[in-house]
Amino acid sequence: MRRRATNGRARKAVAMLIDVHGHIGRVLPDRREFIDAANLIAKMDAWGIERTCVLALSEHPEGAYLECDTEDVLAACARHPGRLIPFCLIDPRHGNRPDMDFRDLLEEYTARGCKGIGELLPKLAFDDPRCLNLYRQAGAFGLPVLFDMMDGSWHYGLNDDPGLPKLEHALQVCPETVFIGHGPTFWAEISADVPVGQRAGYPAGPIVRGGAVPRLMRQYPHLWADTSATSGNNALTRDPAFALEFLDEFQNQVMFGTDSCRRSDVERLWPTVATIRDLRANGKLPAESLEKIEWRNVARLLKLGMPG
Ligand SMILES: [Zn+2]
Repeated sequence: MRRRATNGRARKAVAMLIDVHGHIGRVLPDRREFIDAANLIAKMDAWGIERTCVLALSEHPEGAYLECDTEDVLAACARHPGRLIPFCLIDPRHGNRPDMDFRDLLEEYTARGCKGIGELLPKLAFDDPRCLNLYRQAGAFGLPVLFDMMDGSWHYGLNDDPGLPKLEHALQVCPETVFIGHGPTFWAEISADVPVGQRAGYPAGPIVRGGAVPRLMRQYPHLWADTSATSGNNALTRDPAFALEFLDEFQNQVMFGTDSCRRSDVERLWPTVATIRDLRANGKLPAESLEKIEWRNVARLLKLGMPG
C-alpha cells in the first residue's frame, strides 16, 4: 500500500517570489549587457522568480540614450503576459510647468495594463512642483510611484536633504499616492547616522535608531520600499538584528526586488535573492510576514488578482 503524500503540510523550502524592480533594454551604457525579454526570463527562472515588474527609464533625459522606454516595456510584457508586469514612465518636466495635465498619458498607459510609474529618477529635488504634480496625478490613477533617490552628486536620481524633508513634504501633500523607495540615498537614511560622503554610497556597520526611513514609513503608511539593488541589500544585511525588526514592523510595506541591470547577471545568484532565501531557509521571520515581502504585498498593491 502506498503512503499518502504529505506535501502541502510541510513548510515550503522554496518561496514564490515576485520582483517589483526589473529591467530590460540597455540599462547600462555597455551594449554587451543589453537585456532582452528572453534574458530577463532566464534570470527569473534561474533565481526562482515567478513574475517581474518591468520598469522604463528612457523617458528621462538622464536615461535617454538607454533603450528601455514605456513602449519597449509594453512590447516585452505583451510577449510574456503571465510573467512580466509593465510599469510606465512620464518625465515630470514634460510640459515644464507645475500644472501640466498628464491624464491622456495616464489613461492610455493604464488602459494598456501598466500597474505603476517607474523608475522615476530625474535629477530634481524630490518635492519640485513638477514632481508633486506628477505624484498627485499618479495617485488619482491608482499608480504607485517607484523612485530612485540620490544625493545630487550623481547624474540621475531625485535629491533630498539629510533626514528626507522633501520626501516628507511629498508624503504630506500627496496622501493618495503610494511611493516606493529605492536607491542609495533612500536606504542610507535607514540609519540616523549617515556618514559624511556616504549619502550616495553603501554605509557599513550598525544602524543607529531614529533614521528617516523607519520614521517616515511608520508615520506615512503610503511610503513603501523595495529591497532591490546593492543599496537595498546593504540596508538589510549591514545590521542583521535591526533588519529583522525593520522587516517585521514594516511587513506590509516592503517588497522584494532585484534591479538586475546586466545580461551577464544570469551567471550568478543575485544578492537580494540570496538574502530573502536566507530569511526563509533559516526561519528568521514568521512565514506570514515573509510571504508578504516575497510576493503578497506587491500582488495586493498592484491588484494582480493572484489566488491565496
Ligand atoms: Zn532600477
